[in-house]
Amino acid sequence: MNILVINCGSSSLKFQLINAESEKLIAKGLCERIGIDGSKLTYAPSGGAKEETLAPMENHTDAIRLVLDALTNEKTGVVKSLEEIGAVGHRIVHGGEKFAVSTLINEEVLAAITECNDLAPLHNPANLIGIHACKELMPHTPMVAVFDTAFHQTMPEKAYMYGLPYEYYEKYKIRRYGFHGTSHSYVSKKAAEVLGKNYEDLKIIVCHLGNGASVSAVQNGKCMDTSMGLTPLEGLIMGTRSGDIDPAIIEFLAHKENKTIDEVMAVLNKKSGVLGLSDNLSSDFRDLEAGYHEGNPRAVNTMETFAYRVAKYIGAYTAAMNGVDVICFTAGVGENSNFIRTMICDHYLGYLGVKLDEEANSKRGEDIVISTPESSTTVMVIPTNEELAIARETYRLTK
Ligand code: ADP
Repeated sequence: MNILVINCGSSSLKFQLINAESEKLIAKGLCERIGIDGSKLTYAPSGGAKEETLAPMENHTDAIRLVLDALTNEKTGVVKSLEEIGAVGHRIVHGGEKFAVSTLINEEVLAAITECNDLAPLHNPANLIGIHACKELMPHTPMVAVFDTAFHQTMPEKAYMYGLPYEYYEKYKIRRYGFHGTSHSYVSKKAAEVLGKNYEDLKIIVCHLGNGASVSAVQNGKCMDTSMGLTPLEGLIMGTRSGDIDPAIIEFLAHKENKTIDEVMAVLNKKSGVLGLSDNLSSDFRDLEAGYHEGNPRAVNTMETFAYRVAKYIGAYTAAMNGVDVICFTAGVGENSNFIRTMICDHYLGYLGVKLDEEANSKRGEDIVISTPESSTTVMVIPTNEELAIARETYRLTK
């Protein structure tokens, strides 16, 4: 069965067509600037040439129509008709407390996802638009919602409650939810598989370090804690998000800079993180790493601050699980930057008996143990594959 995986943002849409049995990627691509001038479809069939087409897309239905046309195109398409697409898997950012697992989409589920819109006003409405657009064009194809928050629903109350008046939890469900759940689940399971160990017997810390970044503690196959919170703003210092700050800074900044709450929040989401900390040098770790090697003091300080925050979370989660067996690095920075991995492990993880294997740590693109056999804690790089995880869930619920 072929599964179409859709990840819909407010003005973009990423897609992959995956064969569920062989788990092979058939085609993938991206629609950008939906609803804005200059919309573009990028389409890449596996093993074929990548095509970029400028095409007007007024809305997400237009975008999905173009994707389906590309997939079924006589010359460059990969399937003969839409009938060869057995199901669609949608990435949904926020499932609140309602969704602890992936679910087949029906009217009731759509209503429940809509109820979570308040919790993720930037993401969930866009995800829903993607579902409605697919329903319009493929009304008989089953669809599955896979939630970024679902894997974290096993967290104990002591990990997900904030020290706020309890009534706010009761009234508004303010609590830690966590995100990147599909990635944390995929990577932690894969680590156990690669090590040939029982997932349920391990204490694993996953460091998902990308433009968005989060850490999670996975014990006996269940998420026990994670660094993102009610929203993806909490936790690590990210590309442009601040991560943890003293909440009083918001009021302080609003007064000093004469900004509204919304304006301060925009600073915390879009102008902070390593971009802000490096005094606008870059939000991209490749540039910061280059700056570090050139001795640019802002780049040096930014990289060190970023690594220090990751190391603090590893320490916290080691305590939360009363130990750790495996530390995994994943996502853009975690998979590609041996420099950041070395910085975190060599500067801060000596107390865990971590010893990196330099040669293994310099490899790329594979599931690999990067610690030496003597290392008391195993350190791994596991490239994440959220689309494959979504396709697996979709297949499980629709086959
Ligand atoms: P997103 O959160 O957008 O999914 P990714 O997981 O794709 O992010 O990570 C993107 C980030 O990965 C880029 O912003 C860049 O900083 C970082 N990155 C990619 N390649 C490298 C590399 N070779 N070295 C260091 N950082 C890298």
